[in-house]
Amino acid sequence: MDLRYSNFYIGGEWVRPATGRKIVPINASTEQPLGQVPEGTEADMDRAVAAARSAFDDPTGWASWEPARRADVMERLADAIDRRADGFVERVSAQNGMPVLVARQLETNYPSAVLRYYAGLARRLAVAETRDGVFGGSVEVRRLPVGVVAAIVPWNFPQVLTMYKLAPTMAAGCTLVVKPSPETVLDAYLLAEATEEAGVPNGVINIVPAGREAGAYLVSHPAVDKVAFTGSTAAGRAIAETCGRLLRPVTLELGGKSAAIVLDDADLDLTKIGQGLFTATLLNNGQTCFLGTRVLAPRSRYSEVVDAFTAFAGSLAVGDASDPTTQIGPMATARQRERVESYISKGRAEGARLTTGGGRPEGLDKGWFVQPTVFADVDNGATIAQEEIFGPVLSLIAYDDVDDAVRIANDSDFGLGGTVWTTDPERGAAVARRVHTGTIGINRYIPDPVGPFGGVKSSGLGRELGPEGLTAYQQIQTVYL
Ligand code: NAD
Repeated sequence: MDLRYSNFYIGGEWVRPATGRKIVPINASTEQPLGQVPEGTEADMDRAVAAARSAFDDPTGWASWEPARRADVMERLADAIDRRADGFVERVSAQNGMPVLVARQLETNYPSAVLRYYAGLARRLAVAETRDGVFGGSVEVRRLPVGVVAAIVPWNFPQVLTMYKLAPTMAAGCTLVVKPSPETVLDAYLLAEATEEAGVPNGVINIVPAGREAGAYLVSHPAVDKVAFTGSTAAGRAIAETCGRLLRPVTLELGGKSAAIVLDDADLDLTKIGQGLFTATLLNNGQTCFLGTRVLAPRSRYSEVVDAFTAFAGSLAVGDASDPTTQIGPMATARQRERVESYISKGRAEGARLTTGGGRPEGLDKGWFVQPTVFADVDNGATIAQEEIFGPVLSLIAYDDVDDAVRIANDSDFGLGGTVWTTDPERGAAVARRVHTGTIGINRYIPDPVGPFGGVKSSGLGRELGPEGLTAYQQIQTVYL
Protein backbone atom coordinates (compact mmCIF):
# COMPACT_ATOMS: atom_id res chain seq x y z
CA MET A 1 0.00 0.00 0.00
CA ASP A 2 1.37 3.40 -0.93
CA LEU A 3 -1.36 5.99 -0.56
CA ARG A 4 -0.41 9.61 -0.96
CA TYR A 5 -2.66 12.57 -0.29
CA SER A 6 -1.58 16.17 -0.54
CA ASN A 7 -4.69 18.15 0.52
CA PHE A 8 -7.23 18.39 3.32
CA TYR A 9 -10.99 18.04 2.89
CA ILE A 10 -12.25 21.43 4.09
CA GLY A 11 -15.43 23.28 3.11
CA GLY A 12 -16.27 20.63 0.52
CA GLU A 13 -12.99 21.18 -1.34
CA TRP A 14 -9.54 19.63 -1.43
CA VAL A 15 -7.51 22.42 0.11
CA ARG A 16 -3.72 22.82 0.06
CA PRO A 17 -2.11 22.59 3.50
CA ALA A 18 -0.59 25.69 5.06
CA THR A 19 2.81 24.00 5.49
CA GLY A 20 4.78 21.09 4.00
CA ARG A 21 4.62 18.99 7.18
CA LYS A 22 3.81 15.33 6.60
CA ILE A 23 2.46 12.33 8.49
CA VAL A 24 3.75 8.91 7.40
CA PRO A 25 1.43 6.14 8.67
CA ILE A 26 3.22 2.84 9.33
CA ASN A 27 1.98 -0.73 8.91
CA ALA A 28 1.88 -2.08 12.47
CA SER A 29 2.38 -5.66 11.26
CA THR A 30 5.36 -5.02 8.96
CA GLU A 31 6.76 -1.63 10.12
CA GLN A 32 6.67 -0.48 6.46
CA PRO A 33 5.39 3.00 5.50
CA LEU A 34 1.88 3.01 4.02
CA GLY A 35 1.90 6.37 2.30
CA GLN A 36 1.84 10.00 3.26
CA VAL A 37 -0.65 12.70 4.17
CA PRO A 38 -0.22 16.34 5.15
CA GLU A 39 -0.06 17.17 8.85
CA GLY A 40 -2.50 19.82 9.96
CA THR A 41 -1.24 22.91 11.74
CA GLU A 42 -2.95 25.81 13.47
CA ALA A 43 -3.49 27.63 10.16
CA ASP A 44 -5.20 24.54 8.71
CA MET A 45 -7.40 24.27 11.80
CA ASP A 46 -8.34 27.96 11.35
CA ARG A 47 -9.51 27.24 7.81
CA ALA A 48 -11.41 24.11 8.81
CA VAL A 49 -13.15 25.86 11.71
CA ALA A 50 -14.00 28.82 9.46
CA ALA A 51 -15.58 26.46 6.92
CA ALA A 52 -17.60 24.69 9.62
CA ARG A 53 -18.59 28.06 11.10
CA SER A 54 -19.84 29.54 7.85
CA ALA A 55 -21.74 26.32 6.99
CA PHE A 56 -23.37 26.45 10.42
CA ASP A 57 -24.15 30.18 10.34
CA ASP A 58 -25.69 30.11 6.83
CA PRO A 59 -29.30 31.13 7.56
CA THR A 60 -30.68 28.80 4.87
CA GLY A 61 -28.02 26.13 5.39
CA TRP A 62 -27.65 22.76 7.13
CA ALA A 63 -28.68 23.90 10.62
CA SER A 64 -31.93 25.35 9.28
CA TRP A 65 -32.92 22.23 7.34
CA GLU A 66 -35.75 20.00 8.40
CA PRO A 67 -34.15 17.07 10.30
CA ALA A 68 -35.65 14.60 7.78
CA ARG A 69 -33.77 16.35 4.99
CA ARG A 70 -30.53 15.96 6.96
CA ALA A 71 -31.42 12.30 7.49
CA ASP A 72 -31.54 11.77 3.71
CA VAL A 73 -27.96 13.04 3.44
CA MET A 74 -26.85 10.88 6.37
CA GLU A 75 -28.28 7.78 4.72
CA ARG A 76 -26.50 8.62 1.47
CA LEU A 77 -23.26 8.97 3.45
CA ALA A 78 -23.88 5.57 5.11
CA ASP A 79 -24.30 4.04 1.64
CA ALA A 80 -21.09 5.70 0.42
CA ILE A 81 -19.25 4.30 3.46
CA ASP A 82 -20.61 0.82 2.79
CA ARG A 83 -19.36 1.01 -0.81
CA ARG A 84 -15.86 1.53 0.60
CA ALA A 85 -16.05 -1.30 3.15
CA ASP A 86 -13.03 -3.18 1.81
CA GLY A 87 -10.93 -0.01 1.77
CA PHE A 88 -11.78 0.83 5.37
CA VAL A 89 -10.93 -2.70 6.51
CA GLU A 90 -7.62 -2.73 4.67
CA ARG A 91 -6.50 0.73 5.77
CA VAL A 92 -7.53 0.56 9.43
CA SER A 93 -6.07 -2.91 9.85
CA ALA A 94 -2.75 -2.00 8.24
CA GLN A 95 -2.33 1.18 10.27
CA ASN A 96 -3.30 0.08 13.77
CA GLY A 97 -2.90 -3.71 13.62
CA MET A 98 -6.61 -4.49 14.09
CA PRO A 99 -7.15 -8.01 12.69
CA VAL A 100 -9.18 -7.83 9.46
CA LEU A 101 -11.62 -10.23 11.11
CA VAL A 102 -12.40 -7.53 13.68
CA ALA A 103 -12.12 -4.59 11.27
CA ARG A 104 -14.69 -6.13 8.93
CA GLN A 105 -17.22 -6.33 11.77
CA LEU A 106 -16.48 -3.03 13.43
CA GLU A 107 -14.82 -0.43 11.21
CA THR A 108 -17.30 -0.35 8.30
CA ASN A 109 -20.75 -1.80 8.91
CA TYR A 110 -20.88 -0.68 12.51
CA PRO A 111 -20.14 3.03 11.77
CA SER A 112 -22.66 3.09 8.93
CA ALA A 113 -25.22 1.42 11.24
CA VAL A 114 -24.61 4.19 13.81
CA LEU A 115 -25.14 6.79 11.07
CA ARG A 116 -28.39 5.14 9.95
CA TYR A 117 -29.56 4.87 13.56
CA TYR A 118 -29.07 8.64 14.02
CA ALA A 119 -30.71 9.35 10.65
CA GLY A 120 -33.74 7.47 12.01
CA LEU A 121 -33.64 9.52 15.22
CA ALA A 122 -33.40 12.73 13.18
CA ARG A 123 -36.58 11.80 11.31
CA ARG A 124 -38.41 11.51 14.63
CA LEU A 125 -36.69 14.51 16.20
CA ALA A 126 -39.05 16.90 17.96
CA VAL A 127 -37.24 20.21 17.66
CA ALA A 128 -39.83 22.12 19.69
CA GLU A 129 -42.40 21.20 22.27
CA THR A 130 -45.03 23.34 23.94
CA ARG A 131 -45.98 22.82 27.58
CA ASP A 132 -48.85 24.31 29.58
CA GLY A 133 -47.39 26.77 32.07
CA VAL A 134 -47.87 26.29 35.83
CA PHE A 135 -48.85 29.99 36.12
CA GLY A 136 -50.94 30.09 32.95
CA GLY A 137 -49.81 30.69 29.39
CA SER A 138 -47.49 28.20 27.76
CA VAL A 139 -43.82 27.50 27.42
CA GLU A 140 -42.03 26.48 24.25
CA VAL A 141 -38.90 24.34 24.63
CA ARG A 142 -36.66 24.37 21.54
CA ARG A 143 -33.75 22.01 20.91
CA LEU A 144 -31.21 23.86 18.81
CA PRO A 145 -27.98 22.56 17.35
CA VAL A 146 -25.09 23.57 19.60
CA GLY A 147 -22.94 24.84 16.72
CA VAL A 148 -19.45 23.97 15.49
CA VAL A 149 -18.08 20.72 16.94
CA ALA A 150 -14.42 19.79 17.36
CA ALA A 151 -14.18 15.96 17.23
CA ILE A 152 -10.87 14.49 18.39
CA VAL A 153 -10.43 10.76 17.93
CA PRO A 154 -7.79 8.16 18.84
CA TRP A 155 -6.27 5.43 16.67
CA ASN A 156 -7.78 2.29 18.16
CA PHE A 157 -11.23 2.38 16.47
CA PRO A 158 -10.80 5.40 14.24
CA GLN A 159 -14.02 5.10 12.21
CA VAL A 160 -16.28 3.89 15.03
CA LEU A 161 -15.14 6.68 17.32
CA THR A 162 -15.39 9.30 14.58
CA MET A 163 -18.93 8.15 13.86
CA TYR A 164 -19.95 8.30 17.54
CA LYS A 165 -19.42 12.05 17.14
CA LEU A 166 -20.21 12.70 13.50
CA ALA A 167 -23.61 10.96 13.41
CA PRO A 168 -25.25 12.89 16.29
CA THR A 169 -23.55 16.08 15.05
CA MET A 170 -25.28 15.69 11.69
CA ALA A 171 -28.61 14.65 13.20
CA ALA A 172 -28.64 17.70 15.47
CA GLY A 173 -27.79 20.11 12.64
CA CYS A 174 -24.27 20.95 13.80
CA THR A 175 -21.14 21.07 11.65
CA LEU A 176 -17.78 19.64 12.61
CA VAL A 177 -14.03 19.47 12.28
CA VAL A 178 -12.63 15.95 12.74
CA LYS A 179 -9.04 15.59 13.92
CA PRO A 180 -7.92 12.02 13.36
CA SER A 181 -4.93 10.68 15.26
CA PRO A 182 -1.62 10.68 13.31
CA GLU A 183 -1.45 6.85 13.48
CA THR A 184 -4.74 6.41 11.57
CA VAL A 185 -5.10 8.95 8.81
CA LEU A 186 -5.67 6.94 5.62
CA ASP A 187 -9.17 5.76 6.61
CA ALA A 188 -10.06 9.40 7.31
CA TYR A 189 -9.42 10.16 3.63
CA LEU A 190 -11.88 7.44 2.62
CA LEU A 191 -14.43 9.09 4.88
CA ALA A 192 -13.72 12.42 3.18
CA GLU A 193 -14.25 10.82 -0.25
CA ALA A 194 -17.50 9.24 0.93
CA THR A 195 -18.61 12.64 2.27
CA GLU A 196 -17.95 14.26 -1.08
CA GLU A 197 -19.68 11.49 -3.05
CA ALA A 198 -22.74 11.57 -0.77
CA GLY A 199 -23.26 15.27 -1.44
CA VAL A 200 -22.94 16.34 2.19
CA PRO A 201 -23.24 20.13 2.02
CA ASN A 202 -19.93 21.96 1.96
CA GLY A 203 -18.43 22.69 5.37
CA VAL A 204 -20.61 20.28 7.35
CA ILE A 205 -17.75 17.76 7.64
CA ASN A 206 -14.12 18.93 7.59
CA ILE A 207 -11.22 16.56 8.23
CA VAL A 208 -7.71 17.58 9.27
CA PRO A 209 -5.30 14.87 10.50
CA ALA A 210 -2.90 16.37 13.01
CA GLY A 211 -0.96 15.85 16.21
CA ARG A 212 -1.80 16.85 19.75
CA GLU A 213 -0.62 20.48 19.56
CA ALA A 214 -2.94 21.24 16.66
CA GLY A 215 -5.61 19.25 18.55
CA ALA A 216 -5.16 21.43 21.63
CA TYR A 217 -5.39 24.52 19.40
CA LEU A 218 -8.66 23.21 17.93
CA VAL A 219 -10.12 22.57 21.40
CA SER A 220 -9.56 26.18 22.44
CA HIS A 221 -10.46 27.75 19.08
CA PRO A 222 -12.81 30.72 19.67
CA ALA A 223 -15.18 29.65 16.88
CA VAL A 224 -15.72 26.13 18.27
CA ASP A 225 -18.89 25.60 20.34
CA LYS A 226 -18.48 22.03 21.58
CA VAL A 227 -15.70 19.49 21.99
CA ALA A 228 -16.11 15.72 21.71
CA PHE A 229 -13.02 13.73 22.67
CA THR A 230 -12.09 10.07 22.89
CA GLY A 231 -8.64 9.11 24.14
CA SER A 232 -6.50 8.85 27.20
CA THR A 233 -7.54 10.09 30.61
CA ALA A 234 -4.46 12.35 30.72
CA ALA A 235 -5.39 14.14 27.49
CA GLY A 236 -9.04 14.21 28.58
CA ARG A 237 -8.11 16.06 31.77
CA ALA A 238 -6.12 18.65 29.80
CA ILE A 239 -9.02 19.16 27.40
CA ALA A 240 -11.53 19.38 30.27
CA GLU A 241 -9.40 22.10 31.89
CA THR A 242 -9.43 24.13 28.70
CA CYS A 243 -13.15 23.63 28.22
CA GLY A 244 -13.81 24.50 31.87
CA ARG A 245 -11.98 27.79 31.48
CA LEU A 246 -13.91 28.55 28.30
CA LEU A 247 -17.23 27.20 29.68
CA ARG A 248 -17.38 25.10 26.55
CA PRO A 249 -19.49 21.91 26.55
CA VAL A 250 -17.34 18.79 26.30
CA THR A 251 -17.92 15.04 26.07
CA LEU A 252 -15.04 12.84 27.20
CA GLU A 253 -14.71 9.11 26.51
CA LEU A 254 -11.55 8.07 28.32
CA GLY A 255 -9.72 5.01 29.56
CA GLY A 256 -10.97 2.00 31.47
CA LYS A 257 -9.95 -0.95 33.63
CA SER A 258 -13.17 -2.89 33.68
CA ALA A 259 -13.98 -6.10 35.53
CA ALA A 260 -15.16 -9.36 33.97
CA ILE A 261 -16.92 -10.99 36.92
CA VAL A 262 -17.08 -14.77 36.57
CA LEU A 263 -19.86 -16.01 38.87
CA ASP A 264 -19.64 -19.44 40.49
CA ASP A 265 -22.27 -20.86 38.11
CA ALA A 266 -20.50 -19.66 34.93
CA ASP A 267 -20.12 -22.01 32.00
CA LEU A 268 -16.44 -22.00 31.12
CA ASP A 269 -16.81 -24.10 27.98
CA LEU A 270 -14.87 -22.04 25.44
CA THR A 271 -16.69 -23.58 22.50
CA LYS A 272 -19.79 -21.83 23.83
CA ILE A 273 -18.48 -18.59 25.32
CA GLY A 274 -15.14 -18.14 23.51
CA GLN A 275 -16.32 -15.52 20.99
CA GLY A 276 -18.15 -13.45 23.60
CA LEU A 277 -15.23 -13.71 25.99
CA PHE A 278 -12.82 -12.61 23.28
CA THR A 279 -14.86 -9.50 22.45
CA ALA A 280 -15.27 -8.62 26.12
CA THR A 281 -11.65 -9.08 27.20
CA LEU A 282 -9.15 -8.98 24.31
CA LEU A 283 -10.84 -7.37 21.29
CA ASN A 284 -8.53 -5.46 18.95
CA ASN A 285 -5.35 -6.85 20.56
CA GLY A 286 -6.45 -5.52 23.91
CA GLN A 287 -6.49 -1.97 22.54
CA THR A 288 -10.12 -1.30 23.38
CA CYS A 289 -11.22 1.01 26.17
CA PHE A 290 -14.12 -1.06 27.55
CA LEU A 291 -12.36 -4.43 27.95
CA GLY A 292 -12.78 -6.44 31.15
CA THR A 293 -9.07 -6.91 31.73
CA ARG A 294 -9.52 -7.59 35.46
CA VAL A 295 -11.05 -11.05 35.54
CA LEU A 296 -12.65 -11.69 38.94
CA ALA A 297 -12.93 -15.39 39.75
CA PRO A 298 -14.63 -17.12 42.72
CA ARG A 299 -12.17 -18.88 45.04
CA SER A 300 -14.36 -22.01 44.81
CA ARG A 301 -13.53 -22.33 41.09
CA TYR A 302 -10.36 -20.27 40.94
CA SER A 303 -7.98 -22.84 39.44
CA GLU A 304 -10.61 -23.83 36.87
CA VAL A 305 -10.98 -20.19 35.78
CA VAL A 306 -7.20 -19.75 35.63
CA ASP A 307 -6.91 -22.86 33.45
CA ALA A 308 -9.75 -21.73 31.16
CA PHE A 309 -8.34 -18.23 30.62
CA THR A 310 -4.81 -19.53 30.21
CA ALA A 311 -5.97 -22.00 27.56
CA PHE A 312 -8.14 -19.34 25.93
CA ALA A 313 -5.39 -16.69 25.67
CA GLY A 314 -2.78 -19.27 24.72
CA SER A 315 -4.92 -20.61 21.88
CA LEU A 316 -5.42 -17.31 20.06
CA ALA A 317 -3.79 -17.01 16.64
CA VAL A 318 -1.26 -14.15 16.69
CA GLY A 319 -0.09 -12.77 13.36
CA ASP A 320 -0.20 -10.18 10.60
CA ALA A 321 -3.42 -8.20 10.94
CA SER A 322 -4.21 -8.66 7.23
CA ASP A 323 -4.36 -12.47 7.62
CA PRO A 324 -8.04 -13.45 7.94
CA THR A 325 -7.16 -16.18 10.47
CA THR A 326 -5.40 -13.75 12.83
CA GLN A 327 -7.16 -13.12 16.14
CA ILE A 328 -4.46 -11.01 17.81
CA GLY A 329 -2.45 -8.56 15.71
CA PRO A 330 0.37 -6.24 16.73
CA MET A 331 0.22 -3.20 18.97
CA ALA A 332 -0.52 -0.05 16.98
CA THR A 333 2.85 1.56 17.56
CA ALA A 334 6.33 0.78 18.90
CA ARG A 335 5.57 3.15 21.80
CA GLN A 336 2.41 1.21 22.62
CA ARG A 337 4.34 -2.09 22.69
CA GLU A 338 6.92 -0.57 25.03
CA ARG A 339 4.12 0.54 27.31
CA VAL A 340 2.55 -2.94 27.34
CA GLU A 341 5.90 -4.64 27.93
CA SER A 342 6.70 -2.31 30.79
CA TYR A 343 3.41 -3.30 32.47
CA ILE A 344 4.24 -6.99 31.97
CA SER A 345 7.58 -6.37 33.73
CA LYS A 346 5.75 -4.58 36.55
CA GLY A 347 3.34 -7.50 36.89
CA ARG A 348 6.24 -9.92 37.29
CA ALA A 349 8.07 -7.56 39.68
CA GLU A 350 4.97 -7.13 41.86
CA GLY A 351 4.69 -10.92 42.27
CA ALA A 352 1.82 -11.89 39.97
CA ARG A 353 2.00 -15.42 38.51
CA LEU A 354 2.42 -15.50 34.73
CA THR A 355 0.41 -18.41 33.29
CA THR A 356 0.80 -17.75 29.56
CA GLY A 357 2.50 -15.24 27.27
CA GLY A 358 4.64 -12.48 28.72
CA GLY A 359 6.95 -12.04 25.75
CA ARG A 360 7.08 -11.53 22.01
CA PRO A 361 5.75 -14.31 19.78
CA GLU A 362 8.37 -16.37 18.01
CA GLY A 363 8.83 -16.00 14.27
CA LEU A 364 7.35 -12.50 14.10
CA ASP A 365 10.46 -10.37 13.84
CA LYS A 366 8.75 -7.39 12.25
CA GLY A 367 5.67 -5.73 13.68
CA TRP A 368 4.94 -4.68 17.24
CA PHE A 369 3.64 -8.00 18.54
CA VAL A 370 3.09 -9.05 22.13
CA GLN A 371 1.89 -12.51 23.19
CA PRO A 372 -1.58 -12.67 24.76
CA THR A 373 -0.66 -12.71 28.44
CA VAL A 374 -2.43 -13.88 31.59
CA PHE A 375 -1.37 -13.12 35.15
CA ALA A 376 -2.96 -15.11 37.98
CA ASP A 377 -2.96 -14.34 41.73
CA VAL A 378 -3.11 -10.61 41.06
CA ASP A 379 -3.97 -8.30 43.94
CA ASN A 380 -6.50 -5.66 42.92
CA GLY A 381 -4.18 -3.01 44.33
CA ALA A 382 -1.33 -4.02 41.98
CA THR A 383 -0.28 -1.65 39.22
CA ILE A 384 -1.43 -4.06 36.48
CA ALA A 385 -4.88 -4.22 38.10
CA GLN A 386 -5.27 -0.48 38.58
CA GLU A 387 -3.74 1.10 35.45
CA GLU A 388 -4.92 0.75 31.89
CA ILE A 389 -2.44 -1.35 29.91
CA PHE A 390 -4.15 -1.17 26.50
CA GLY A 391 -2.71 -4.46 25.30
CA PRO A 392 -3.52 -8.20 25.44
CA VAL A 393 -2.87 -8.64 29.14
CA LEU A 394 -5.41 -10.06 31.60
CA SER A 395 -5.16 -10.02 35.40
CA LEU A 396 -6.99 -12.78 37.29
CA ILE A 397 -8.14 -11.77 40.77
CA ALA A 398 -9.77 -14.11 43.31
CA TYR A 399 -12.90 -13.14 45.28
CA ASP A 400 -14.69 -14.72 48.26
CA ASP A 401 -18.36 -14.07 47.53
CA VAL A 402 -20.52 -11.84 45.31
CA ASP A 403 -20.25 -8.88 47.71
CA ASP A 404 -16.48 -9.19 47.56
CA ALA A 405 -16.59 -9.39 43.74
CA VAL A 406 -18.67 -6.21 43.54
CA ARG A 407 -16.35 -4.47 46.00
CA ILE A 408 -13.29 -5.37 43.93
CA ALA A 409 -15.00 -4.41 40.65
CA ASN A 410 -15.78 -0.99 42.12
CA ASP A 411 -12.32 -0.52 43.62
CA SER A 412 -10.98 1.28 40.55
CA ASP A 413 -10.37 4.85 39.43
CA PHE A 414 -12.15 3.94 36.21
CA GLY A 415 -15.78 3.09 35.49
CA LEU A 416 -16.38 2.41 31.82
CA GLY A 417 -17.51 -1.16 31.04
CA GLY A 418 -17.55 -4.67 32.42
CA THR A 419 -19.24 -8.03 32.14
CA VAL A 420 -20.81 -10.69 34.33
CA TRP A 421 -20.47 -14.35 33.28
CA THR A 422 -23.21 -16.67 34.54
CA THR A 423 -25.70 -19.32 33.45
CA ASP A 424 -28.40 -17.32 35.26
CA PRO A 425 -28.85 -14.04 33.35
CA GLU A 426 -31.21 -12.58 35.97
CA ARG A 427 -28.69 -13.17 38.70
CA GLY A 428 -26.06 -11.68 36.41
CA ALA A 429 -28.16 -8.55 35.84
CA ALA A 430 -28.65 -8.12 39.59
CA VAL A 431 -24.88 -8.21 40.10
CA ALA A 432 -24.27 -5.94 37.08
CA ARG A 433 -26.56 -3.26 38.55
CA ARG A 434 -24.29 -3.02 41.60
CA VAL A 435 -21.20 -2.23 39.54
CA HIS A 436 -20.38 1.48 39.21
CA THR A 437 -19.68 1.79 35.51
CA GLY A 438 -21.35 3.59 32.62
CA THR A 439 -22.07 0.30 30.83
CA ILE A 440 -21.96 -3.42 31.61
CA GLY A 441 -22.96 -6.65 29.82
CA ILE A 442 -24.22 -10.09 30.81
CA ASN A 443 -22.31 -12.87 29.01
CA ARG A 444 -21.51 -10.43 26.19
CA TYR A 445 -20.36 -6.90 25.57
CA ILE A 446 -20.63 -4.80 22.48
CA PRO A 447 -21.90 -1.20 22.52
CA ASP A 448 -25.33 -1.09 20.88
CA PRO A 449 -26.14 2.23 19.17
CA VAL A 450 -29.44 2.52 21.05
CA GLY A 451 -27.76 2.52 24.47
CA PRO A 452 -25.78 5.50 25.78
CA PHE A 453 -22.09 4.64 26.02
CA GLY A 454 -19.56 6.28 28.32
CA GLY A 455 -17.99 6.16 31.73
CA VAL A 456 -17.98 7.42 35.28
CA LYS A 457 -15.03 8.51 37.44
CA SER A 458 -11.80 8.77 35.41
CA SER A 459 -13.47 7.13 32.41
CA GLY A 460 -15.08 10.33 31.29
CA LEU A 461 -17.94 12.79 31.21
CA GLY A 462 -21.18 12.56 29.27
CA ARG A 463 -22.46 9.86 26.95
CA GLU A 464 -22.27 9.00 23.28
CA LEU A 465 -24.88 6.92 21.40
CA GLY A 466 -28.60 6.61 22.03
CA PRO A 467 -30.95 9.61 22.10
CA GLU A 468 -28.84 10.83 25.06
CA GLY A 469 -25.84 11.07 22.74
CA LEU A 470 -27.83 13.40 20.51
CA THR A 471 -28.77 15.80 23.29
CA ALA A 472 -25.05 16.44 23.80
CA TYR A 473 -25.13 18.27 20.44
CA GLN A 474 -28.18 20.36 21.27
CA GLN A 475 -28.76 23.41 23.38
CA ILE A 476 -32.12 24.28 24.79
CA GLN A 477 -33.97 27.55 24.43
CA THR A 478 -37.11 28.17 26.47
CA VAL A 479 -39.65 30.70 25.16
CA TYR A 480 -42.34 31.86 27.61
CA LEU A 481 -45.33 32.33 25.35
P1 NAD B 1 -4.37 10.17 23.35
O1 NAD B 1 -5.22 10.73 24.40
O2 NAD B 1 -2.92 10.40 23.41
O3 NAD B 1 -4.82 10.71 21.90
C1 NAD B 1 -6.16 10.68 21.46
C2 NAD B 1 -6.38 11.79 20.46
O4 NAD B 1 -6.29 13.04 21.12
C3 NAD B 1 -5.37 11.87 19.33
O5 NAD B 1 -6.04 12.33 18.18
C4 NAD B 1 -4.38 12.91 19.83
O6 NAD B 1 -3.69 13.54 18.78
C5 NAD B 1 -5.29 13.86 20.54
N1 NAD B 1 -4.73 14.60 21.67
C6 NAD B 1 -3.83 14.17 22.58
N2 NAD B 1 -3.62 15.14 23.51
C7 NAD B 1 -4.41 16.18 23.17
C8 NAD B 1 -4.67 17.47 23.74
N3 NAD B 1 -4.06 17.87 24.86
N4 NAD B 1 -5.55 18.28 23.13
C9 NAD B 1 -6.19 17.88 22.02
N5 NAD B 1 -5.99 16.70 21.41
C10 NAD B 1 -5.12 15.84 21.99
O7 NAD B 1 -4.75 8.63 23.34
P2 NAD B 1 -4.29 7.49 22.36
O8 NAD B 1 -2.94 7.04 22.78
O9 NAD B 1 -4.44 7.96 20.96
O10 NAD B 1 -5.40 6.38 22.67
C11 NAD B 1 -5.30 5.46 23.71
C12 NAD B 1 -6.13 5.89 24.90
O11 NAD B 1 -7.46 6.27 24.54
C13 NAD B 1 -6.32 4.80 25.91
O12 NAD B 1 -6.08 5.29 27.20
C14 NAD B 1 -7.80 4.39 25.78
O13 NAD B 1 -8.41 3.87 26.89
C15 NAD B 1 -8.43 5.65 25.38
N6 NAD B 1 -9.64 5.34 24.61
C16 NAD B 1 -10.87 5.54 25.20
C17 NAD B 1 -12.02 5.24 24.50
C18 NAD B 1 -13.39 5.44 25.09
O14 NAD B 1 -14.37 5.44 24.38
N7 NAD B 1 -13.52 5.64 26.37
C19 NAD B 1 -11.94 4.76 23.21
C20 NAD B 1 -10.69 4.57 22.65
C21 NAD B 1 -9.55 4.89 23.36
